[in-house]
Amino acid sequence: METKLSSSLQAMRMFSETYAKKTNTFFCSDPSITAVVIEGLAKHKEEYGAPLCPCRHYDDKEAEVSSAYWNCPCVPMRERKECHCMLFLNPENEFAGGEQTIEEKLLLQNNL
Ligand code: SF4
Repeated sequence: METKLSSSLQAMRMFSETYAKKTNTFFCSDPSITAVVIEGLAKHKEEYGAPLCPCRHYDDKEAEVSSAYWNCPCVPMRERKECHCMLFLNPENEFAGGEQTIEEKLLLQNNL
C-alpha cells in the first residue's frame, strides 16, 4: 500500500521548499535535521492550528500561537533571516547544503 504524507506534513513541506526558494536560503547538509523540523512544524499545525516553531520551549503553546511571534516563519526569520532551527540556512552558513527541496521518503521515517 502506498504511504502518503499527512496533509499538514505535505503543507509544511511545500511551505518550506517555497519559502527557502523565496528567501534564497538552503536546507541543512544533514537532511534528517530538515525532516525533524518540518515534522515538528506539521505536528504543531495539527495540534494548535499554526506551525509554531518546534525548536523552543513554551509554557503555554496556545498563547504562543496567538501571539504569532514564533509561528513559522517567525519574526527573527522574517526580519533578519535568522532560523535557529537550521531549517532555512543562508548560503554562507557552514551547515548549509545545496538543497531547497526534501524527498518525501525522508519525511516518512518518523511516522508522523
Ligand atoms: Fe521557522 Fe523561525 Fe523556527 Fe526557523 S526558527 S523553523 S523560521 S519558526
